[in-house]
Amino acid sequence: KSVVAIVGRPNVGKSTIFNRLVGERISIVEDIPGVTRDRIYAQAEWLNHTFNLIDTGGIEIGDEPLLVQMRQQAEVAIDEADVIVFLVNGKEGITAADDEVAKLLFKSNKPIVLGVNKIDNPEMRETIYEYYSMGFGEPFPISGSHGLGLGDLLDQVVSYFPEVSGDDRDEDTIYFSLIGRPNVGKSSLVNALLNEERVIVSEIEGTTRDAIDTHLQKDGQNFVITDTAGMRKRGKVYETTEKYSVLRALKAIERSDVVLILIDAETGIREQDKKIAGYAHEAGRAVVIVVNKWDTVESNEKAMKEFETNVRAHFQYLDYAPIVFLSARTKKRLHTLIPAIKVASENHAKRIPTNVLNDVIMDALAMNPTPTMKGKRLKVLYATQVAVKPPSFVVFVNDPELMHFSYQRFLENKIRDAFGFEGTPIKIFARQR
Ligand code: GDP
Repeated sequence: KSVVAIVGRPNVGKSTIFNRLVGERISIVEDIPGVTRDRIYAQAEWLNHTFNLIDTGGIEIGDEPLLVQMRQQAEVAIDEADVIVFLVNGKEGITAADDEVAKLLFKSNKPIVLGVNKIDNPEMRETIYEYYSMGFGEPFPISGSHGLGLGDLLDQVVSYFPEVSGDDRDEDTIYFSLIGRPNVGKSSLVNALLNEERVIVSEIEGTTRDAIDTHLQKDGQNFVITDTAGMRKRGKVYETTEKYSVLRALKAIERSDVVLILIDAETGIREQDKKIAGYAHEAGRAVVIVVNKWDTVESNEKAMKEFETNVRAHFQYLDYAPIVFLSARTKKRLHTLIPAIKVASENHAKRIPTNVLNDVIMDALAMNPTPTMKGKRLKVLYATQVAVKPPSFVVFVNDPELMHFSYQRFLENKIRDAFGFEGTPIKIFARQR
């Protein structure tokens, strides 16, 4: 999917435009604390294109001076985006700060679309000619608050999208990624995996410039570690900011089937870990929780059990995810990782035949009577799997309103007990029949 970034100095209206373009999609259904607030990355649609949008204004870097911040935001856009929307304020004209950002964008060779915001009425359109002087071609007059002119701007944006080449993914390859806050050891773990014996490695540039996929083969199984770019070129200030690591995580999650959520055994679980993990769960990816730096902990069964209890308490919604303890530095227990990835991946793509599924559902119904509401009892007719990645089931019932959350959970547990979906979320929908 193409990535579009919005840049511009503060108060030009980046967030307003972001919210306009993203529309309702910004509120995500699932209620995981802390996950959905302060989005800087979301999906948007225009014509027949779906793309990802970044509001670089949301990436604040401590108390750096304004100019430094703007430069860094421009760098994020240049690193991450296929097309950049450069916003200026039509009420204020071109400022020195605008010029500063313009210079950086100019050098980037990325397509730039210049949006002149706050052109709230037609008379003001006369003023936009001065913006031709910025050298980005036609300036697009828009009004974020009134929602004007966005269509023309978006037409221009999508005209720069590369021809969709179709993601030629190999069915038999396992695509996975590593996410986690800065310094949990993502780069170290990638390197540890690659330096292992009997691993065959090749690097192939992804379709977008910043996505580097690393291919490896282990015991006859092909793997691709997606989005390792952020782990190779490092050292920019914004890479240590929380928002940026979330952004990277989102991009990595999008391109993989299995997501490794890294946790630092030395520092323990932090708020930011939960936020990042929430995104992987929301996206319906298979998940393996990796507790790295296990060499720093006195390793015994008891310590492991304790840490596991702690992880389970903090990541309740990830109860299906296996936990792997290892050290990227000493490579201790590293061999346990690949098998866990394989299992999660297999389960993520598993299909249950309808007759077998219904045997399990019927047993469950016999074991635990269906709930009633206002004298009406839920009747479950049959169930069928409608999708994989993640496995998704439709349960046909007399009235979906009667499917109480707790009963749905009970059915999910029965399905899990029967088919062992370790490592993957599963989805159940009640439909009327
Ligand atoms: P990233 O930001 O998540 O890519 O983290 P890095 O791979 O750069 O690692 C951050 C720091 O943690 C570096 O100093 C690593 O040497 C250290 N580190 C990574 N893995 C381990 C580990 O398993 N044990 C210990 N003790 N340190 C580790």
